[in-house]
Amino acid sequence: MIQLEGIDKSFELRGGQRAAALRGLSLAVAPGEHVAILGKSGSGKSTLLNLIAALDRPSAGRVRVAGTDLAGMAESALALWRGRNVGVVFQFFQLMPTLTIAENLVLAMELVGGIAPAKRRDRAMELLERVGLSDQAHKLPSTLSGGQQQRAAIARALANDPPLLVADEPTGNLDSETAGAIGELFEELSAQGKTLLLVTHDRGLAGSARRVVELKDGRVVADTQHVIPAQAGTA
Ligand code: ADP
Ligand code: MG
Repeated sequence: MIQLEGIDKSFELRGGQRAAALRGLSLAVAPGEHVAILGKSGSGKSTLLNLIAALDRPSAGRVRVAGTDLAGMAESALALWRGRNVGVVFQFFQLMPTLTIAENLVLAMELVGGIAPAKRRDRAMELLERVGLSDQAHKLPSTLSGGQQQRAAIARALANDPPLLVADEPTGNLDSETAGAIGELFEELSAQGKTLLLVTHDRGLAGSARRVVELKDGRVVADTQHVIPAQAGTA
C-alpha cells in the first residue's frame, strides 16, 4: 500500500538555511496493516504523513502509495487521487464550519465524484450511523463535542471509500475516555480491512496497532510487530 524509499525532506528557513525533517527514510506498509507512528514532537511524523497523503512532496526519494508513483503527478491530478485513495483525519478535525455534519460528508463525495449524486445523502447517513452520529447529522460542527467532531471527521475520511486512512494525532485534542472510543473505532475499521497509519504520541492509541514505527530526528529508529496475545480463558 505504501512504499517510501530514501526519502529526504528539508524545509527552507528564513535566511536561506535548510532544516532536515526526514533523512533517508524508507518504509513499506502492506495492504491491511494497522501501523502507529510514534516519536517526539519534531521527529518528522507530520511531515511523513503529509508525503503519504500527497499533501506535500519529498526533497528526494520515491513515494508510491496505492499503486501510484506520486512524483510525476500534477497538483490537480493529486487532489483527485487523494480523494479516491486516502482518507485524512487531523488533530483539529477540519470540518467545514458552515455546513452540517451530513453536508460535510456529501461535499467530500462531490469533490471526488466517485459516488453517484443520488446516493450521496444515503451514504453520508450510513457512514454517520457507523460512527454513532445518526442523530447529529443535521447539526453544525461547532455544536458537537470534540469526540463527536472527530467521529464525523473519520466518517468524512471514509466518504469515498479509500483503502488507506491516515490520521495525524487524531486523539491529541480529546480527553482519555473519548480518545479510547476513537481508538476502538479505528480498530473496527482495521478489522474491516482498511490500511491504517496513525501518527500519535498517545501510547494507548499505539497499543492497538499491530506494528509500531518510531521516528527520531527524521529517521526510523524502531519498527516492531506486536504479537496479539490469545484471549485469556480460551485455552
Ligand atoms: P512532528 O509531527 O513529529 O512533531 P514535524 O514533521 O511537524 O514533526 O516536523 C519535523 C521537523 O521539520 C521539525 O524540526 C519542524 O520544525 C520542521 N518543519 C516541519 N514543517 C516545517 C515547515 N513547513 N517549515 C519549516 N520547518 C518545518
Ligand atoms: Mg506533528
